[in-house]
Amino acid sequence: MRKSPALPVIASRRGKGLTALRRHSRAKGKDALRRHSRGRGGNVCIFLLTVLGLGPTGFLGVATASLGVVTTVAPLTDMVRQVGGDALHVHGLVPEGVNSHTFQPAPGDVQYLAQADLVVLNGLDLEVPIEKLIHSSGRRGVTVLKLGDKTIRQDEWVFDFSFPKAQGHPNPHLWLNVAYAMHYVSLIRDQASALDRGNEAVYHRHATDYLAQLAHLDHCIAGAMSTLAPSQRKLLTYHDSWPYFARRYGMTIVGAIQPANFAEPAPREVARLIDQLRREQVPAVFGSEVFPSKVLQKIATEAGVRYVTTLRDDVLPGHPGEADHSYLGMMRHNVTTMLEALGGTPATFTACLQTPPTR
Ligand SMILES: [Zn+2]
Repeated sequence: MRKSPALPVIASRRGKGLTALRRHSRAKGKDALRRHSRGRGGNVCIFLLTVLGLGPTGFLGVATASLGVVTTVAPLTDMVRQVGGDALHVHGLVPEGVNSHTFQPAPGDVQYLAQADLVVLNGLDLEVPIEKLIHSSGRRGVTVLKLGDKTIRQDEWVFDFSFPKAQGHPNPHLWLNVAYAMHYVSLIRDQASALDRGNEAVYHRHATDYLAQLAHLDHCIAGAMSTLAPSQRKLLTYHDSWPYFARRYGMTIVGAIQPANFAEPAPREVARLIDQLRREQVPAVFGSEVFPSKVLQKIATEAGVRYVTTLRDDVLPGHPGEADHSYLGMMRHNVTTMLEALGGTPATFTACLQTPPTR
């Protein structure tokens, strides 16, 4: 942990400068900090901090007593922010709407890894190119926390259509199972506390509040899914991200459409899926926010089932600063979408979420 020198005379000015930068980076989204640190914007920023007597001593020029944390996909970034609050400077590397499975870090991302105290990854081979970059360019002694690897054992890994065992990379989408997400949050709390003992109470307080919200969400999802008849509890999705969700909430994965190379499926595969949809009498197929697919539309039309365009596994709904632009908001959105399409009762789910949990 890097402590700023104690300079009480400029402390209040420093606070204002930092608060403004934080506000700016939140208001403009994750790219704002990146833009700040590049080119003229970055120079101006460093210049201002230097004028204020700060110097580029902290995470990307932000002098601070907290940790610099680099994360990858948006749901994990949100979890780290929920635990850290103002005590952590968090930068998510994978822009929303970008395929995280094939994401290659840009040369400019090196600067974040070179200064990070902690890198939080999903693991389970989701971020192999980023792991290589950490190895080659990360700060010496940087702590790398792979949440998925510390949440399930190897015998609990799921291999499936888009993540075949032959390729050796398990399905990495653990965070769509809220119980696993809660484990992620506990791991983030414990790692941040270990690296920054001065803020341990802060991380624990935030995590306790957040875990209570997640437990309530988990309870409401389980209740909502149990209202679906067994014949309706079927998911056929474009992107293959729901096996751990299905395992927790009693859903069956009928299939996924996206092949392991993330290309569109071959015509033979399309014909097979249409047959399967007719046979299984699945009421709807689900597209993905990140992978809009004309093929899925064709499959749904030919099989005579509803095509629901949006499930999200690593894109948060809404815009930065809005309540739904969060992991909690993403899961609320996903479950409501499934219930509407499969014949469940979204109103019951909404009512459950609005009922405060009993402690
Ligand atoms: Zn995914």
